[in-house]
Amino acid sequence: MHPSEKTDRATLTDGFGRQIDYLRISVTDRCDLRCRYCMSEKMTFLPRNEILTLEEIALIADRFIARGVRKIRLSGGEPLVRRDFGDLARRIGRHIGQGLDELTLTTNGTHLAEHAAMLADAGIRRINVSLDTLDPEMFSFITRRGDINKVFAGLRAARDSGLAVKINMVALKGVNDHAFLDMLRWCDTEGHDLTLIETMPLGDVGEDRTESYLPLSHALQHIRQEFDVAPLPDRTGGPARYFAVEGLQTRLGLITPMSDNFCAGCNRMRLTCQGRIYMCLGHEKHVDLRAAFRDGGVTAVDALLDQALATKPLRHDFQIEEGASAATIRHMSVTGG
Ligand code: SAM
Ligand code: SF4
Repeated sequence: MHPSEKTDRATLTDGFGRQIDYLRISVTDRCDLRCRYCMSEKMTFLPRNEILTLEEIALIADRFIARGVRKIRLSGGEPLVRRDFGDLARRIGRHIGQGLDELTLTTNGTHLAEHAAMLADAGIRRINVSLDTLDPEMFSFITRRGDINKVFAGLRAARDSGLAVKINMVALKGVNDHAFLDMLRWCDTEGHDLTLIETMPLGDVGEDRTESYLPLSHALQHIRQEFDVAPLPDRTGGPARYFAVEGLQTRLGLITPMSDNFCAGCNRMRLTCQGRIYMCLGHEKHVDLRAAFRDGGVTAVDALLDQALATKPLRHDFQIEEGASAATIRHMSVTGG
């Protein structure tokens, strides 16, 4: 029997009664960019033998779907730099409509032009593309090396392949905080939704993040000088709160882990590229699936998944204060954003 055929009533519930049906997978910690808020210039990546193979990721995903996961987001690092990523996307995509409601992807877009058609073919319908600015020089500054034209080419390919795009923009004080309105208008012209994100203290990035942290209430205030903005009841399974912007088609999302905690409704868990399950982005507690899986196969995964569920904390412990160190030592790229 196909694992997903057993899923009709399977549910994963944590110790606080929250139903956990959303899995984010970091398929690699590697990346072709070095965004200042995400990793340092001299980021060291995990040795290859510590990383799950694509086949291992696929088998673990099968089991999670059988246990009640309904939505999977593939992320990283940059998922599109992992060789044979398309095979994994197609493999997991086979579950769509048979246990899995949706497969999505978060990408920096630099390799999207080559891969957009493959993503659509794998059953992916919506993707998030990270783009913090429309200015080519600012883009190279924030990413420390990126060419924005590659992202624009990727976005055109996504449109040609019928993929709906949401732009993720991390709000950075003194860097892109003058550009929210331009980004919003541009997204509207291009037919994209837009989500603004507060910077989270994850991993050492070699810079003081307190300087660039901007509460999104400021961004909203700025946008409201030009547009009426009204809350929407929409949920997409993630942490964003959505708003309608009067006169625009673009739906505005806000992810406010720092200024407005959303943990009460958390439905997520994360599988890292090393095979660890983290039940919260902001806690170090985890269970290690890799060794158990390599010894005992998929059945060994079940017991550890139950153990992980029992340890899901009520809320994260992020704080951005002067001198405060990162809340977790691991980077977002390892855990999967
Ligand atoms: N490389 C892909 C990308 O950039 O879209 C996927 C991985 S990235 C870690 C996922 C998302 O996390 C991106 O939208 C990125 O902007 C965001 N991100 C990374 N580090 C962050 C941090 N410290 N605080 C808030 N968001 C962060
Ligand atoms: Fe790479 Fe994404 Fe992190 Fe930027 S945010 S360095 S693109 S993983």
